[in-house]
Amino acid sequence: MVGPAICCVGLCREKKHSRPKVRKKNHSSRRKAISLHLRFLSIVEVVVETSYTRKDPGRRYFSCNNVDDGDSHIWKWWDVAIQEELRETQTQLRMVKDQFFESDQKVAKLDKIVGVLTKKTSVINYGLAKGVSVLVLVILVIVMGWKSFRGFKHQCQNSRRGWQLRPSLSARQSASYSSASAASAEAERTIREGPRNDWSKDEIKAVYDSPVLDILFHGAQVHRHVHNFREVQQCTLLSIKTGGCSEDCSYCPQSSRYDTGVKAQRLMSKDAVIVAAKKAKEAGSTRFCMGAAWRDTIGRKTNFKQILEYIKEIRGMGMEVCCTLGMIEKQQALELKKAGLTAYNHNLDTSREYYPNVITTRSYDERLETLEHVRDAGINVCSGGIIGLGEAEEDRVGLLHTLATLPSHPESVPINALLAVKGTPLEDQKPVEIWEMIRMIGTARIVMPKAMVRLSAGRVRFSMPEQALCFLAGANSIFTGEKLLTTPNNDFDADQLMFKTLGLTPKPPSFSEDDSESENCEKVASSH
Ligand code: SF4
Repeated sequence: MVGPAICCVGLCREKKHSRPKVRKKNHSSRRKAISLHLRFLSIVEVVVETSYTRKDPGRRYFSCNNVDDGDSHIWKWWDVAIQEELRETQTQLRMVKDQFFESDQKVAKLDKIVGVLTKKTSVINYGLAKGVSVLVLVILVIVMGWKSFRGFKHQCQNSRRGWQLRPSLSARQSASYSSASAASAEAERTIREGPRNDWSKDEIKAVYDSPVLDILFHGAQVHRHVHNFREVQQCTLLSIKTGGCSEDCSYCPQSSRYDTGVKAQRLMSKDAVIVAAKKAKEAGSTRFCMGAAWRDTIGRKTNFKQILEYIKEIRGMGMEVCCTLGMIEKQQALELKKAGLTAYNHNLDTSREYYPNVITTRSYDERLETLEHVRDAGINVCSGGIIGLGEAEEDRVGLLHTLATLPSHPESVPINALLAVKGTPLEDQKPVEIWEMIRMIGTARIVMPKAMVRLSAGRVRFSMPEQALCFLAGANSIFTGEKLLTTPNNDFDADQLMFKTLGLTPKPPSFSEDDSESENCEKVASSH
């Protein structure tokens, strides 16, 4: 068969072989073989023949149609030509592979160059961004510096008015780490400007509604700014006249209106009271509080005189003395002061709005009047409330608002969690959760920074870690002893262990006339 464009030097060199006898093959088989040589052959007609020699019978070879003219023409064994072709193909493949590798290397180099260029561009951009940031920072520093200067001037003015900043913590420093909640803002303001009595209910509500951890944190900030955070006041409360009360306070087991199993008793003798006070002092209490289940002291001249004697005696023992005897008149307040009374407790219990749901036998204003008599007599005011009475959160805010807007904040603010007593109208109330207590305590600490905030009734239900959170939020006073009037209290040994574990120290008594930061008194789950 005639092939297309074929002849090559290599094939021609094979001419030295003797020409074998040939038998022409059919077209298709020869075309296939010849196609392998396309790249090597010049233009000549090539055919595939078959050898019939004795030495190579049936072996195929390449030749051309002009082979018989006696000139030099192509000739080569077909299998040899195929092997050469394969070798050549392998060589070509290697070359292609080498070229590919070379290209790959070049691409890698290009990649590297692009990377370096990108980095340089980033550095330039970063430099630009940094420059802009520094510029913004400088502007901020100038603005803040100006504000700080104005704030410092303001603090100096406050210092002259008696509100001293502790050097360990400036409001601005503490605020820089804080969030933008109302608890944060008001705590900063309290630290900067000191206590104030012009709180709006909305402002207190905003603090109260802040995230509880924010209240905890900023309550702690205010607490540490104003008080020695390790000192916790230990008070002992003794019921010197138990039960048989004419009032209808719906949380109180001492009301004669409810069947609670509490028996009415007469006023305790002086000896019994003094023995109890000595025992309390030996146990570490620095304040002794006496409670009597009365509506008021009017018409109880004999008992009142006895109580004045108790006060003198206990004060003579080096203890602070507190009473909670119900409503008192101006004259009685003066007599109590003269006897040496440190503080008088009279709780508001709840908000003015919710109050009629709890007590109907005396009004909110009568309570405020008693507080006024106490304040006017120069006795420290102890007044707080109870949560868990079924009130709304607005009522808790309302209670704090009333206390925080009194002409002077109470020196002590007891925060009680209701201990529901069987037989009282509130016997089925759900127990107060620790987070509710922390919210109340922290808010009280922020809005009344100088007050002793007392973790009072209901403490027995809280574990040591839960109480620790209350101390962190700003509580710095507790009642110790087996009972709080008629309800159970924390075990003495457990309290000792808690003080040791938390690194707390008992707050020493204070008898300074104008020491308004350390006054205290309590009225637990009963309020007069
Ligand atoms: S809280 Fe005080 S006033 Fe009210 S019922 Fe009890 S003892 Fe009486």
